[in-house]
Amino acid sequence: MYLYQIRDVDHFYGDKQVLSIEDLAIPSASITGLIGPNGSGKSTLLKLLGFLEEPTYGSILFQGRKAAPFSKVVRSRVTLLIQEPYLMRRSVFDNVAYGLKIRGDNREIRSRVSKVLEQVGLEPENFARRKWTALSGGEAQRVALAARLILKPNVLLLDEPTASVDAHSARLIRKASLKAREEWGTTLVVATHDWQWLYETCDSILHLLQGRLFKRGLGCAVYGPWRIGQNGLLQKELEDGQVLIAPKPEEGKLMAVLDPSRVDITLPGMGLQQGNCKTLNGFVTRLFLERNSATVQTAIKVAELVITIRMARNKVEALRLCPGKEVSVSYDPQEMEWF
Ligand code: ADP
Ligand code: MG
Repeated sequence: MYLYQIRDVDHFYGDKQVLSIEDLAIPSASITGLIGPNGSGKSTLLKLLGFLEEPTYGSILFQGRKAAPFSKVVRSRVTLLIQEPYLMRRSVFDNVAYGLKIRGDNREIRSRVSKVLEQVGLEPENFARRKWTALSGGEAQRVALAARLILKPNVLLLDEPTASVDAHSARLIRKASLKAREEWGTTLVVATHDWQWLYETCDSILHLLQGRLFKRGLGCAVYGPWRIGQNGLLQKELEDGQVLIAPKPEEGKLMAVLDPSRVDITLPGMGLQQGNCKTLNGFVTRLFLERNSATVQTAIKVAELVITIRMARNKVEALRLCPGKEVSVSYDPQEMEWF
């Protein structure tokens, strides 16, 4: 069952088109990650999913029905947390309880506030009476999250929730959001550049560029500039001087993506150069055993690129991969895709 179905949405600010999404369905209780450069439309998409704005054209169905912005059905179920949230000039308690109070839901308000404060790692005895001014950025963000979690939302939309907070707060924000999904089946959509969100928690990753969804999954986007090299192929010089090769794009295509399922990992010196394949040197930065425990997400840093690959666990073990280990990444330039 899909919670959201987006069809032929085109969104404009004035005469500038900022979003164009033909078809996107988001299942209930899933975690979707949005990634893309600044201005690619992530926040706009979240605002539309939060029914804070209506798309200029097209429709967004929520639980199979069209929902009007700010309508009652979505107001109590869909909630958005932004990067720098606004707290009311009141105590932490009042901020967290506010949503319940305006709904006239005053049952056991104290214990409910205490419970969500604990969920976000703020001891109630220590924080409930604090003023909004006596909080660090990370604590304020966690108060804002608690104010949303107390509503047990069906949907929690997170717009770069951990971009401007300390690592400890970031971890607690992630944990509390995941718990909402576990406990209440809350659907999460998160715009982030944080790999721990994207690769360890998301069920699906959507790449946005200039308002378009151009790729789903673990693809590694490569930004220009490119120069023309041999045989009419394009070359991108990476920060460490290594060169990545791609075919020439069709007109209007902007970004090349290396599909991690098409690359092969070997140890340096061990790789047999096959056909037209090229190799790049990198090192393992992170290994993450997936829930099925047969595959390992292996992140490999090649200069400024991070290539995240799903590898069979036995292959990871055979190559004795561990963080810091040097590896060769071989890829076929003809398989680089342009978007
Ligand atoms: P992202 O969150 O990926 O950085 P945004 O969704 O914030 O991207 O912005 C997408 C585009 O829409 C940008 O070009 C931005 O300047 C423009 N934009 C966003 N909000 C508004 C607005 N309220 N009025 C006019 N233009 C806007
Ligand atoms: Mg944004």
